[in-house]
Amino acid sequence: MTRYIFVCGGVMSGVGKGVATASIGKILQAKGYRVSALKIDPYVNVDAGTMNPLEHGEVFVTDDGTECDQDIGHYERFLNRDFSTVNYLTTGRVYQSVINRERNLEYKGKCVEVVPHIPEEVISRIKKAGKKDKEDFVMVEIGGTVGEYQNMLFLEAARMMKLLYPRDVLIALVSYLPVPPKIGEMKTKPTQTAVRTINAAGIQPDLILARSEFPVDEPRKRKISISCNVRPEDVISAPDVDFIYQIPLNFEKEELGNKILKKFGLRPRKQDLKEWAKLVRTIRTVKKQVRIGIVGKYFETGDFALTDSYISVIEAIKHASWANRILPQITWLSAEKYEKDSRAVLELKGFDGIIVPGGFGERGVEGKIKAIEFCRKNKIPYLGLCFGLQLAVIEFARNVCKIKNATSSEFAKKGDFVIDVMPDQKALLEESRYGATMRLGAYKCKVIPGTIARKAYQKSLVSERHRHRYEVNNEYRERLENKGLVVSGENPERNLVEIVELRNHPFFLGTQFHPELKSRPLNPQPLFLEFMRACLSSRARA
Ligand code: GLN
Repeated sequence: MTRYIFVCGGVMSGVGKGVATASIGKILQAKGYRVSALKIDPYVNVDAGTMNPLEHGEVFVTDDGTECDQDIGHYERFLNRDFSTVNYLTTGRVYQSVINRERNLEYKGKCVEVVPHIPEEVISRIKKAGKKDKEDFVMVEIGGTVGEYQNMLFLEAARMMKLLYPRDVLIALVSYLPVPPKIGEMKTKPTQTAVRTINAAGIQPDLILARSEFPVDEPRKRKISISCNVRPEDVISAPDVDFIYQIPLNFEKEELGNKILKKFGLRPRKQDLKEWAKLVRTIRTVKKQVRIGIVGKYFETGDFALTDSYISVIEAIKHASWANRILPQITWLSAEKYEKDSRAVLELKGFDGIIVPGGFGERGVEGKIKAIEFCRKNKIPYLGLCFGLQLAVIEFARNVCKIKNATSSEFAKKGDFVIDVMPDQKALLEESRYGATMRLGAYKCKVIPGTIARKAYQKSLVSERHRHRYEVNNEYRERLENKGLVVSGENPERNLVEIVELRNHPFFLGTQFHPELKSRPLNPQPLFLEFMRACLSSRARA
C-alpha cells in the first residue's frame, strides 16, 4: 500500500519546497521505508526541455531521457535513487494525454471536462508513481504557490485524493515567515492568509513547514496553530541553512519523521541517517578552499545573478570537494567579457580549476573558447561538460591542428564543422521538431585504458546521461588524434566520441555527456572527484 504526502507552497516561491520535499523523503527512507517523489509543474510546456534555463533553471535529465525540473535532481541526490518519466508531470503532459484519449474515443462519448477529468488524470499519474516500484511513500510536490490560478487543478487532485483515501494522504504546506528588518519581528500573517487560501480549495494542511531566516519560536508556533488549524507540534521550524544537506537533520530535531509516521499509524522500521550525519559533519569541518571558475551565460538576469541554471554542476563540485576534504569557492565568470576584452581572460590565473558547462547557441561561444585556450596553455585544470567538450575540440582544432575555420554547425553557417549535427538530428531540425528530440538520457560509454577517464572511473564501461544534438565529427578525428587529442571514451554502438582529454596537462578533459547529473552527496561522480583532486594539487603548486 502506498501513502501520499502532498507538499504545497505558501506565500512565495523559491523558499526551498523541492529540498523540503526531498528532505522529508530522506527521513522516511532512513526509517526503513521505500520513498519516491513526483514533481508537478504547472507549466503548459510538456517538459522542461523547451524552456530557457534563465526562465526555469536547469533542465535535469533522467536515465530514461526525461527533460524535467531541477527538483527531480534534488530527489535523486537526497534519496540516492534514479527516477524517470513517472516522477514528473506538467499541465501540458496531463492535457496532452486527456486530449489524446478523447480523440481515440476512450471517454466513450462523454463530455470531457476540465473537472473532474483533468484532476482524475493527475491522480492516475500520481498512483502510477506509487505503483512503479511498490513505493511505501510518494512525495508529491505541487509547483508554484497556493492561490495561483495555474495550480488549482493540482490542489483539486490533492483534495480528491484526501477524500478518497483519508488515511493514506497527508498535506504539508511549506510557508514563508518574513522578518522585515525595520520591524524586527517574525510575521505570521502571510502564512495565515496562505492557509485560508488553501482552505478555500477544500484542503486543510496537516503540517506547516515554517520557512524563515530564523527558527520559529513557541509563541509563533502557537499563533500559527490557532489561526491555521494545526496542532502546535505540527508547525515545523525550518530556518535558513548554510547547506541544504543539513535539512533532513534539522527536521529530525523536530521529530518530523516520527510525527508523519504516527499520522499514518506507522512506526519507524529503523533509524539510519548515520552516513548522512557524517557527511554534514565533514562539510562543517573542512576548511581548505579551492577556487573554481564556471564560465557560462545563464546566470545574468538584470541586476541579479541566478545560479539555478547550473545547480547539478554546483552540487557535483561540492560532493567531489567534500570527498576530497576541501571546500569549493565557486565564481561565475561571464563568457562574453572575454570577447569584449581579451586581456580579461588573465583573471583565470587566479583559479585552481575552470569548468565550461552545457550551453546552446552562439552567444558567449568565442569567450568560452578563449577561456579554454588559456586553460590549455597555462595548465589550469579544465573540465568541459557537453558544450564544454565541443568548444574544447574546436579550440584544439583551430589552435593546435591549425584548422583555422574550425567551428560547429550549431552556430556557424559555413566553416570546418569539427562539431556537427548528428545525422538523425538533421531531419528533426528541418521539420522544427524540437521537443524531447535531442540525444537524451543514459547511454553506454567505453572507457579507454591508460587515460585520466579510466583512472577516474576504474571501469571499462560506464553509463552517463546526455542532452545534445551535435557531436564530434568523426571525419576530423584522425587529424585531432594525430596532434595529441586523446579520445578516452566512446559510445560502443555508434562510435560517437564521449570523452576527450589531453596528455601533458594536469587535467584537461571534456565529456559529451553530463556527468553532473549522476553525482550524489554520498556517491560523488568519478570525473568530478578526479578534477577536484587536480584542482587541489594545482592549488598546492601555486
Ligand atoms: N548545444 C550543444 C548540442 O546541442 C551542447 C548541448 C549541451 O551542452 N547540453 O550538442
